[in-house]
Amino acid sequence: KLVLGIETSCDDTGAAVVDETGNVLGEALHSQTQVHLKTGGIVPPVAQQLHRENIQRVVEETLSASRVTPSDLSAIAATIKPGLALSLGVGLSFSLQLVNRFKKPFIPIHHMEAHALTIRLTNKVEFPFLVLLISGGHCLLALVQGVSDFLLLGKSLDIAPGDMLDKVARRLSLIKHPECSTMSGGKAIEHLAKEGNRFHFTINPPMQNAKNCDFSFTGLQHVTDKLITHKEKEEGIEKGQILSSAADIAAAVQHATACHLAKRTHRAILFCKQKNLLSPANAVLVVSGGVASNLYIRKALEIVANATQCTLLCPPPRLCTDNGIMIAWNGIERLRAGLGILHDVEDIRYEPKCPLGVDISREVA
Ligand code: ATP
Ligand code: FE
Repeated sequence: KLVLGIETSCDDTGAAVVDETGNVLGEALHSQTQVHLKTGGIVPPVAQQLHRENIQRVVEETLSASRVTPSDLSAIAATIKPGLALSLGVGLSFSLQLVNRFKKPFIPIHHMEAHALTIRLTNKVEFPFLVLLISGGHCLLALVQGVSDFLLLGKSLDIAPGDMLDKVARRLSLIKHPECSTMSGGKAIEHLAKEGNRFHFTINPPMQNAKNCDFSFTGLQHVTDKLITHKEKEEGIEKGQILSSAADIAAAVQHATACHLAKRTHRAILFCKQKNLLSPANAVLVVSGGVASNLYIRKALEIVANATQCTLLCPPPRLCTDNGIMIAWNGIERLRAGLGILHDVEDIRYEPKCPLGVDISREVA
């Protein structure tokens, strides 16, 4: 069995061919990150245009690297939800053209399901396992009980941690920092934080008394923003210049983010173990999404995992961010489970918003 996966939900045009055993026969990825860094955020029509310009080449490169032709494929899988409408549309219509032309079954993919299942491509992980997905657009904790069987334990009530770190990085003008100019906001914060002292400023993690597994990041953003304004006045510098205390601020906000993520994850593990949803002795905690490549945050989660007899697993960094491989692999998982394989694509539409699984976040208390 061979599946071609196509991803265009946000700002990466990705494709890959994966076989039943998880072998990646070929892949290609076109990232728009550098373009969006210059505009200080994703401009959807620009993302759409770049997907349009690149999708054909990305898919052709994938197929030729894989040494397969479309007729060799068992199915074509593509992200149809959630994501930016304009971006999703490009991948979906391109995929449906292939589906119709080569008469292949179509497997619609939920982007977050794909992120969650990626670990089963790289490691031998059985259901159930707990997953923490942290990226620029998402923040959720879910129990993965099967290929398409998710219990949503918690989610961000406002923005995602990557979005918050991107905003803080922008406010700190890290794009002008000689070492960070080509890095995403989150990566720039991590890089700078290494030279900073996290004890220099105190930024409290949010929701310390909330007895659930939800998250919040706008408070952190505003507190950090205020701190930056205060330091700008104190140092007598203009908005847009780099503060001498930028590294300390980066270290403090990164620490607060790590504490918040660790605390909520700890609660989720205890809840699942108490309800017998996870094995008491050898449960698995998977962390993925762009923010999961942050080693400081990972360390905090490792401490939580060790304290609760969990094994912490993270896909390699290139599989933590958006890519075609995870979509193709999700296609394989669905093919093997016989779930959601469409032979008639008439009614298929993309869905910019779509929650993952059954939301039980109110019961987690
Ligand atoms: P989606 O949420 O739909 O998956 P996305 O494009 O934002 O979309 P990713 O590509 O997984 O998701 O992640 C990008 C985010 O990860 C950005 O917000 C970026 O700042 C953050 N990020 C990348 N590297 C790091 C790092 N080392 N530390 C913290 N955050 C990071
Ligand atoms: Fe993603």
